Amino acid sequence: MNHFDYRNGVLHAEDAPIAEIAAAVGTPFYCYSTATLERHYRVFEAAMPKGSLIAYAVKANGSLAVIRTLARLGAGADIVSEGELKRVLAGGIPAAKVVFSGVGKRRSEMATALDAGIYQFNVESEPELDVLNEVAASKGMKAAIALRINPDVDAKTHAKISTGKAENKFGIGWNRAKAAYAYAAKLPALKIVGVDVHIGSQITDLAPFREAFLKVAQLVQDLRAAGHEISRVDLGGGLGVPYDSRTPPDPASYGAVVREAVGALDAQLIMEPGRLITANAGVLVAEVIYVKKGDEKEFIILDAGMNDLIRPAMYDAFHDIVPVRVRAGAQRRVYDVVGPVCESADLFARDRELPQLSAGDLVAILTAGAYGAVQGSSYNARPLAPEVLVKGRQFAVTRPRQSVEDTIALERWPDWLR
Ligand SMILES: *Cc1c(COP(=O)(O)O)cnc(C)c1O
Repeated sequence: MNHFDYRNGVLHAEDAPIAEIAAAVGTPFYCYSTATLERHYRVFEAAMPKGSLIAYAVKANGSLAVIRTLARLGAGADIVSEGELKRVLAGGIPAAKVVFSGVGKRRSEMATALDAGIYQFNVESEPELDVLNEVAASKGMKAAIALRINPDVDAKTHAKISTGKAENKFGIGWNRAKAAYAYAAKLPALKIVGVDVHIGSQITDLAPFREAFLKVAQLVQDLRAAGHEISRVDLGGGLGVPYDSRTPPDPASYGAVVREAVGALDAQLIMEPGRLITANAGVLVAEVIYVKKGDEKEFIILDAGMNDLIRPAMYDAFHDIVPVRVRAGAQRRVYDVVGPVCESADLFARDRELPQLSAGDLVAILTAGAYGAVQGSSYNARPLAPEVLVKGRQFAVTRPRQSVEDTIALERWPDWLR
């Protein structure tokens, strides 16, 4: 469910016509809907057991305006770097609702997070336990930790976003888990509070979640029997969203699996949804630069490229593409929709049937609110695209378009080239 709809043949974000935003901001740009963000957060929260911490995985969309919109609904955050910590604090999420995940936390990042007073560290290896213990001890503090366990479950998602198999770099191997807890219990500056798991992203089947959560429940019981105090269970994120006609399980069905698997543990539950909150709350708007006939194909060449939205190139992702203005009686044609970047991978859709398009037409690439702008780059010296947040009839540019001059000013001449 989202708030991007046609009115009188023009695509709107809530009550704001996308064509009007494009005229004001230029293309390409990301456009987010406040009402959609709020709806997704509320529906997810309502489906979870009372008292759960919903820690929005900010790596999905780190826009400060998006973070603040969610902060005002009471969201916490799952972060994976010091940079994300600073962004969520700037956005207004209190440190006391922040959990810190990631396989490669540096000492300085741990120190900043301890000073800020975050809720817990999700520790992903034995060496990380030692380093966190040292950093916390040096400050006379105790760090609250959960160990991220790799349950060796196949999430049946794209290989590049599967994280819970034994071969993946994430978490502590299932067979090492109990020994790792016993080791952590001996480190004086750590306080064990929970167990953490995150098996992947864009998961469209509940079975892998159930399998992983049941394993976690068993582990919690074993750890408690071994004398560890486990008061929190972090289930990670990963619930999928509809990119095409397939409909992933809804939050209510996911909530039922959560209750069934871990509801009786008498632990605070933590969830880390990212994509589910922001994916359908954002679109990437682009203009058709050329329509080019090849020997075998017809190409729509957009002014947005893989540097703006890398998901199709990186994850073979499908994104629906729609015209911003519907032309009555437009003939349908089959196109490859591509960007201007000098890479064959700069391709948004292959053999896609669309209403006939001409140069100057606007299109919206849908479901682009998660893992879109955050993965943007300036490859081909293309400045980062702006981000716009809509609320009702209002819209605001929350990140202005970068200029090439901005990017040039970031660099320095070596002495010998001055
Ligand atoms: C990426 C990530 C998430 C969010 O995943 P989604 O599929 O966007 O919900 C949650 N937790 C961790 C540890 C992650 O790395």
